[in-house]
Amino acid sequence: MARAFIGFGGNLGDTRQIITDAIVCLALRNELHIVSKSCYYQSAPVDALGNDYINAVVEIETELEPYGLLYVCQAIEQQFGRERPYENAPRTLDLDILIFDGCAQNDTELTLPHPRITERSFVLLPLLEICPELFLPEFGILKAFLPQVAHQRINKLACRNCTCDAKTLIKSSEPPYKTLN
Ligand code: AMP
Repeated sequence: MARAFIGFGGNLGDTRQIITDAIVCLALRNELHIVSKSCYYQSAPVDALGNDYINAVVEIETELEPYGLLYVCQAIEQQFGRERPYENAPRTLDLDILIFDGCAQNDTELTLPHPRITERSFVLLPLLEICPELFLPEFGILKAFLPQVAHQRINKLACRNCTCDAKTLIKSSEPPYKTLN
């Protein structure tokens, strides 16, 4: 089983609900299971226009290969009406594979680890929340990059259940979405 981290983000529509529902969609896939989920974070758009973004990071274990996981992520984006009218346009939902085991690659469709992990507070903060001592050969210890993103406006949103197993929550709650904020 591979361990991967996926970043969720959006700034069009009810993004908290969209991300919550998208995480449930991910959790329902047979080829993976969710290990942990960060709180939600609200941040100013970087190199983009529009509303503030909401972001979160989810850790999974999966039998999929990196491209298989990419196609699953893209299918979920489509399910939530993702459109790309122009570069960095506001979006209902964006899924990025941040890390896939020790996989290092850079081709037209998939770059791993995601090249901007260390540059964005909305990636770094939720990622370090669920894995504080994360180390990547390409970057070193990730928490060392926190001072470089300290000027970026970001707020951690109230979260009842910072680390949860979505599949367990789905089984134990009625209706299924309400315990994932
Ligand atoms: P975006 O418009 O931000 O959703 O970017 C999607 C494009 O980035 C797609 O064409 C993907 O193939 C490509 N891409 C490259 N690396 C990654 C990655 N690590 N995770 C997700 N998409 C990626």
